[in-house]
Amino acid sequence: MLGEKIKSAIRDVPGFPKPGIIFKDITPILKDAVLCESITAAFAEKVSELRADVLCGVESRGFLFGMLLAQRLRIPFVPVRKEGKLPYRTLKQAYDLEYGRSTVEMHEDAVLPGQRVLVHDDLLATGGTITAVSEMIGRAGGQVAGYCFLLELGFLNGRARLAPYSENIYSLTVYE
Ligand code: AMP
Repeated sequence: MLGEKIKSAIRDVPGFPKPGIIFKDITPILKDAVLCESITAAFAEKVSELRADVLCGVESRGFLFGMLLAQRLRIPFVPVRKEGKLPYRTLKQAYDLEYGRSTVEMHEDAVLPGQRVLVHDDLLATGGTITAVSEMIGRAGGQVAGYCFLLELGFLNGRARLAPYSENIYSLTVYE
C-alpha cells in the first residue's frame, strides 16, 4: 500500500532542528522515481474532483510534489515563500510560532479573485503555516478548494485548524 511505502521510505531524524523534534526527512522518497510517480498519481486522483484553478506549494518541500502535481493537473503552480525571497510585489501574512513570529508571502498577482486554490505542503503539523497561507489566499480573493499533504502528524490536530477554510484535507500518510 502506498501509505506504508511512504512511511518506510521516510527517515526519522531525532533532535533536528532542535531537541525534542523528530524530523520527518522525505529526501529518501525523492531517490525513488517510481515511488515519486505513484505519489503524484495518488494525489492527482484524490484532488482532481476539487476542480482547482491553481496550486499553492509552501516553501520549500512543498515545491517538490507541488510542481509535479500542478503539471499533472495542468494548472498553474504558485510558490509561497518565507519573507523576503520573492522579487515582485507581494501579499504577506504573519503568524505565530511556538517561539516568535514568521511571515509567508506570495506574489500579489499569483492568485486571482474567484480562483479555487489547492494548497500543498509535505507535512501537516500544527497547521500554523497552512492557516496563514489560507488567510493570505482569502485576502487575494481566492477560495481554498482543499489541501493535500504527504504526511500528517495527526496527534497535533492541525486538521481542526484548516477545517474552517476547507474540509477537503487529503494526507497520504497519517501518524496517529
Ligand atoms: P506547522 O505550521 O506546525 O503545521 O508546520 C508545518 C511546516 O513545518 C511544514 O512546512 C513542515 O515541513 C515543517 N515541519 C513541522 N514539523 C516537522 C517535522 N516533525 N518533520 C519535518 N518537517 C516538519
